[in-house]
Amino acid sequence: MKFATKAVHGGLKPDESTGAIMTPIYQTSTYVQKAPGEHNGYEYSRTLNPTREALQLNIASIENGKHGLCFSSGMGAIDAVIKLLSPGDEIVANNDVYGGTYRIMTKVFEDYGIKPHFVDMQNARSVEEHVNDKTRLVWLETPSNPLLNITDIKELAAITQANGILLGVDNTFASPYLQNPLDLGADIVMHSVTKYLGGHSDVVLGALVCNDDQLEERLSFIQNTCGAVPGPQDCFLVLRGIKTLHLRMQRHSDNGRLLADFLDGHEKVDHVYWPGLENHANHSIAKDQMRDFGGMLSFTLKDNSLEAAHAVISNTRIFKLAESLGGVESLIGHPASMTHAAIPREERDKTGIVEGLIRLSVGIEDGEDLIEDMKQAIG
Ligand SMILES: *Cc1c(COP(=O)(O)O)cnc(C)c1O
Repeated sequence: MKFATKAVHGGLKPDESTGAIMTPIYQTSTYVQKAPGEHNGYEYSRTLNPTREALQLNIASIENGKHGLCFSSGMGAIDAVIKLLSPGDEIVANNDVYGGTYRIMTKVFEDYGIKPHFVDMQNARSVEEHVNDKTRLVWLETPSNPLLNITDIKELAAITQANGILLGVDNTFASPYLQNPLDLGADIVMHSVTKYLGGHSDVVLGALVCNDDQLEERLSFIQNTCGAVPGPQDCFLVLRGIKTLHLRMQRHSDNGRLLADFLDGHEKVDHVYWPGLENHANHSIAKDQMRDFGGMLSFTLKDNSLEAAHAVISNTRIFKLAESLGGVESLIGHPASMTHAAIPREERDKTGIVEGLIRLSVGIEDGEDLIEDMKQAIG
């Protein structure tokens, strides 16, 4: 099956009792048993719920994976992955990782004896330098947030496989429409489903996909034991969202290109970060491992002051100032004071998340309207 068909049908079947074509919202915490232990596979909804099960199968299908697991947020999913580790183990992650991921690794799991290293992953060598016999997990985001750096997943997978290390890829920015990390050698794919998969800014949810049966067993044990599971209403909203994922991602990518080209040619703009631009540092890797380049882009103004950035951000009309990304509506944000505020300033400056950096989540509105909006905001 091709992607668009899987987005609509993957892992799904009509409801057996009624024929309902849409997966029902099984709003129940428990299930009646005929005799102790005699049931249809459902005992209690933290362990399994039919609506969540349908979503897990659907997400596994669009990521070309065998097993899907859903969590109450993207952070809940990342938390479950790190809980595969033990005190003394080490993680190597990209140094421009999502702020919440940096925070959970440094402020929660370091206290449990799990040590993170943050490295520049555009150079696979720097990963090798930090890998040792304690390394259990390499965690990677590509494209990364907010600088849209691209890492060669296959190249990293060769390193992790040679060293018996798990490779986890946060595929939130690309979505399964643009890139499938399991096909490139990753062991675990993670999504903040809150973003493109949900796609309508109305739900917070997370997911993991993997192929290995033992890994799935460990992760579903953690999912059930720690209990960060999503409710059936939220799962239903995501099932509905994914049915149009391919259409939305095409438009996000088309509008992303329009905005990137416009900003790249603007006299007040210094640099545009979008992997589809030929001048992007990793454009050729992006072309190889992604089907298109998506709707996330960042840029800096020639006037690199906080004031200049704030002026643009507060002048847009269609682009709304907000955290988050991946919804149908266009958003604008200031990483240094919003999504990446948890990262100390000196760390931010080192990785290019300067005060003057502006991030766009380009939505699916009319592209010309979006350009007009940017034009008047930059002035
Ligand atoms: C939003 C986000 C997360 C966290 O997901 P939540 O659903 O907000 O918990 C993780 N990684 C990336 C890249 C994100 O954008």
